[in-house]
Amino acid sequence: MPIEKLAKILNLEAAKYQDRAVFGGLARYADTWSREARVAFVPEADEWVQEVADRLCAYSALSDDGARQKAVTELLGMLQAAPPQREEEEKAVPAPPVPAKTGPAPTLARTGLDSSVTVLQGVGSRQAKRLAKLGVHTIRDMLYCFPRRYEDYSQLKPINRLEYGEDVTIIAQVWDAGVRKTRGGGSLFKATLSDGTGFVEITWFNQPFLADKIQRGKQIVISGKVDEYLGRLCFNSPEWELLEKELLHTARLVPIYPLTKGLGAKWLRRLMKRTVDYWSKRMPDHLPDSVRQEAKLLDLESAIVQIHFPGDKAILKKARYRLAFDELFVLQIGLLRQRHLWRSEPGRPLPVDDGTLDNFTRSLPFELTNAQKRALRQIVADLRTSQPMNRLLQGDVGSGKTAVAAAAMALTVAAGAQAALMVPTEILAEQHFANLAHQIPNLGLLTGSVTGQEREEILAGLSDGSVGAVVGTHALIQEGVQFKELTLAVIDEQHRFGVSQRAALRQKGYNPHLLVMTATPIPRSLELTLWGHLDVSVIDEMPPGRKPVVTRLILPTERERAYSFVRSQVEKGRQVFIICPLVEESAKIEAKSAVEEYKRLQKYIFPDLRLGLLHGRMKGEEKEGTMASFARGELDILIATSVVEVGIDVPNATVMLVEGADRFGLAQLHQFRGRVGRGEHDSYCLLVSGSSSPEAQKRLQAVEATNDGFELAQKDLEMRGPGEFLGTRQAGFPDLKLASVTDLQLIEAAREAARRFFETDPELADPDNRLLARRVVQFWKGEGEVS
Ligand code: ADP
Ligand code: MG
Repeated sequence: MPIEKLAKILNLEAAKYQDRAVFGGLARYADTWSREARVAFVPEADEWVQEVADRLCAYSALSDDGARQKAVTELLGMLQAAPPQREEEEKAVPAPPVPAKTGPAPTLARTGLDSSVTVLQGVGSRQAKRLAKLGVHTIRDMLYCFPRRYEDYSQLKPINRLEYGEDVTIIAQVWDAGVRKTRGGGSLFKATLSDGTGFVEITWFNQPFLADKIQRGKQIVISGKVDEYLGRLCFNSPEWELLEKELLHTARLVPIYPLTKGLGAKWLRRLMKRTVDYWSKRMPDHLPDSVRQEAKLLDLESAIVQIHFPGDKAILKKARYRLAFDELFVLQIGLLRQRHLWRSEPGRPLPVDDGTLDNFTRSLPFELTNAQKRALRQIVADLRTSQPMNRLLQGDVGSGKTAVAAAAMALTVAAGAQAALMVPTEILAEQHFANLAHQIPNLGLLTGSVTGQEREEILAGLSDGSVGAVVGTHALIQEGVQFKELTLAVIDEQHRFGVSQRAALRQKGYNPHLLVMTATPIPRSLELTLWGHLDVSVIDEMPPGRKPVVTRLILPTERERAYSFVRSQVEKGRQVFIICPLVEESAKIEAKSAVEEYKRLQKYIFPDLRLGLLHGRMKGEEKEGTMASFARGELDILIATSVVEVGIDVPNATVMLVEGADRFGLAQLHQFRGRVGRGEHDSYCLLVSGSSSPEAQKRLQAVEATNDGFELAQKDLEMRGPGEFLGTRQAGFPDLKLASVTDLQLIEAAREAARRFFETDPELADPDNRLLARRVVQFWKGEGEVS
């Protein structure tokens, strides 16, 4: 059956070689197939099954049709020469039950690392369900389910040297033991132990069954905290084990696993021990020897054994290092492959001449900063080559990224090609359009609000090439939009877009040059992991004459004073933003609370001032209307939700008052702050927070203390981790269990190792590297394009 099924899929694949014959691609299908095949074929066929699975895995990474065609032909050949399948009845009747379940059950012969945990002794469907809650489905998952921490019971002490409060282990003989009833109706099991240096009493509550196990004369090991009762040292409900067997729960660094309801700590530890003992030896190392030796890494087997049941702290550290290195190495190989694939298909080189470049920069109302010039030079150099550009442009809020992008777009149009700038909101699109229209001839605007005749004209212009450049929102990636020749795709505030949306814009052209811009600076460590396949230009200098924004933390009780400050600024002719607290549940509720805040302020606090309201549930034209009147100075105060975070430019605004500041991320607060201080006036950012959590205080104080976006980004990443830092929209980041995205040193080491290795075998075609290729695919499973 597995043969027929796979043959069918391969024949389908042979029509186009696009890796579309099965959902998610052949690499992804490999696991499913090999599971089925292992059941269907005789145990001796295991190697053959593995070989087929490996080839399926490698298939998705092959870059050209020729290689894929060859791979399919070979695979079909392998299927023809398939080993025998199991007899029907052998499959139907489960293996005869083994009377006493001792030693590896005979079924193990045909199970592999990707078999379900139910093949393990003592794991039934109920336990399997519970393990699944921990993300453990297969034996391999089990080995990669690492302890959360360790209890250090490695300190062995004689009884006469015990000290109150310490975590220790003692080995002693049971002198006396017995169960008593307590007054409350429970039971108390007491044992007196001696090791020749002294006596100590141990008590366990409500575990009467211990009487059968901890018997007089036995040697036992006790690990736990030393307690005191009536002036004498004792232990209460410590961990214990008989000395007869290998110690698992005591007298060592004891692994503490994540647990869910119904999984006992001791049970899981024992299961883990058996699994690790048996399977770690059967897990081939996917890291190439050369890489392992150069980086001085433990082999995989030792690393897995030691991370679960460490001999001591030093070797535990080595094990963690090896496994963390692994994750980053595989991640980096994935990034390098992505880059390699992009580069292997030519793009269109643009004949940008220096005269056009000079003309453009001279037409700007300001002189570019040195950092802007450098970024622009790097971009121009990319545009001139036939390798499509893949560049990340990053810099602090207000550092002038847009001006650089606009230059690249203008040059593209001047060279006779098309450019598109995609931004996350209509307001921003309109603002960019208004600014760039002076600098880029034939600029179009395409958002959800552009409809009817206007829309028809833009679409026609883009497809016949008469519109050279366009600024727009998601509307740009809709199906009906066609470019004559999209050659430069720019994505602003890229973290606001999902992976597929970014890919969709690229696909509007034929391998266009790609420039992505971030809203906030990105710490170097994250840049190397998440954008490691992109070239990076950093604008690390602000345009001249910017005054730093004065930032102050404010308690809710001081709000009145803040309001009078707001009023005094308005009296001076300035304008003010007031940001409403973030409401996570829904945009609807958030909008509602913004409306209420707006009403309250207008009615009770600023009845004589001109207030405006901006939130995500308003229609495009409404938002535009409000924003435009605020920009023209027709409104004094703009009450808004986080929608203003993104890029709006009103130089006359001098106060940014943020309510519920503790709910926002540091990078986001910095973005808000970047909305003021854009003109000649002194500007202020007031952060209102009623949160008493020390953590929140620390975060807000960081914003108060520095205006440096790079520094804040680093802090934000350290405090909240990459998921929060990047926001939920940044899908497609593979799961790192051990490696930290703030560990720059390790990341650089893994990156360098990956780079050197990659040069030797970019296609991962060498049979020696097949395991690695497989691992890379598994690791990046389900991820489409990253950018
Ligand atoms: P970013 O997108 O990096 O946050 P913008 O490109 O929106 O920043 O630029 C912020 C403001 O600074 C804009 O008003 C822009 O016109 C202005 N600006 C950009 N570059 C310069 C420069 N070199 N000198 C003076 N002003 C500049
Ligand atoms: Mg911007």
